[in-house]
Amino acid sequence: MRLRNKPWAREMLQSHPQFVILSPEQYKGKWNTAFEKDQPLHIEVGTGKGRFITEMAKANPHINYLGIELYESVIVVALDRLIEANLPNVKLLNVNAEKLTEYFAKGDVDRVYLNFSDPWPKTRHAKRRLTHENFLKLYEEILVDKGEIHFKTDNQGLFEFSLMSFSEYGLLLKYLSLDFHKSDFEGNIMTEYEEKFSQQGSRIYRCEVKYQ
Ligand code: SAM
Repeated sequence: MRLRNKPWAREMLQSHPQFVILSPEQYKGKWNTAFEKDQPLHIEVGTGKGRFITEMAKANPHINYLGIELYESVIVVALDRLIEANLPNVKLLNVNAEKLTEYFAKGDVDRVYLNFSDPWPKTRHAKRRLTHENFLKLYEEILVDKGEIHFKTDNQGLFEFSLMSFSEYGLLLKYLSLDFHKSDFEGNIMTEYEEKFSQQGSRIYRCEVKYQ
């Protein structure tokens, strides 16, 4: 993700509390109260510019969505989308996923989406991959029992690492496609990265895994 310094980004986030969760600690154990309706919560970790989360919220009004993104300068682009869409069931959170357990209690989250997560190809950076066992432990600590992770990427190395990591952690494989755009899956919502890489001819990998 190319980052431009946007000094106004923080102010813009802070001036839209209806779309941006500014004090996530207050919702720990009661995320249903952050949204208009008490319904399942799906989070996307590393939401980037927010197309996936916004379109998912449009398509699934019976689910609440939360897009989590580390960089202010990126999440403000997602905020523009949310303002335009003006939906009650999608919000944004500008935090590092390493701190998820500070903001969510066990059972707050029904599903985690990981889309085109940064691959961190160097072995010494493996712990930064969002499918590293340390992150799988964090997701387990905030998900409902038998909660799921849905993961898409164009990066074969990251996908192989992730399948190993899921398997070693004891997650059950529910769905696997090694060429997702050629599969018969219906209703895929493309992320910004997915569109870019698939237009360049990259193959897209996808899986769904479940905690036992
Ligand atoms: N999901 C989007 C898509 O598919 O278009 C964006 C993909 S982009 C390659 C990965 C995003 O994850 C970046 O915006 C990055 O800032 C974010 N990210 C990486 N590590 C993160 C972390 N620890 N916590 C929150 N966001 C993170």
